[in-house]
Amino acid sequence: MELREFFEKYPDEATCIEDFKNKRLKNGLLCKKCGHDEHSFRKIDLKFQCKRCQNRISLRSGTVMENSNLPVKYWMICIEIMTLSRKKISVLKLQYLLGHKRYEPIWLMVQKIKLVMRKRDEKYTLRAYSEFDSEFLKELDGLILPKKDKKNTNEMV
Ligand SMILES: [Zn+2]
Repeated sequence: MELREFFEKYPDEATCIEDFKNKRLKNGLLCKKCGHDEHSFRKIDLKFQCKRCQNRISLRSGTVMENSNLPVKYWMICIEIMTLSRKKISVLKLQYLLGHKRYEPIWLMVQKIKLVMRKRDEKYTLRAYSEFDSEFLKELDGLILPKKDKKNTNEMV
């Protein structure tokens, strides 16, 4: 998809949330409590609710976006750009493109996406949107911005 098409398809956060939700449902979401595979979605608090036992899990839980406060849209744009770009792009440039004030959250997001892309083969690229095992999530959470990179913000991804 070209970026132009991307922005036509996903003009705002709501359309991104809708798409992310659908991707998770399509990938197969199992209730942690009873193992049931049918869920409804609560727009009010962005949670899936098991149709059998009513157990709820949040939209981002278990995915690369867990523990992130950045908009879903940022993640989708970043995944799209990183998938599309054959030339390397700097984190600083991505930060600029997203219009985000702080460097660190963007750096962290990029590293997490990189980790997902490295771990999974091509057909799994979209798995950035689906459930990971706890070991992998621990690895994601272990990512922190090294001090030296705070000065050197020209890192290419
Ligand atoms: Zn259940």
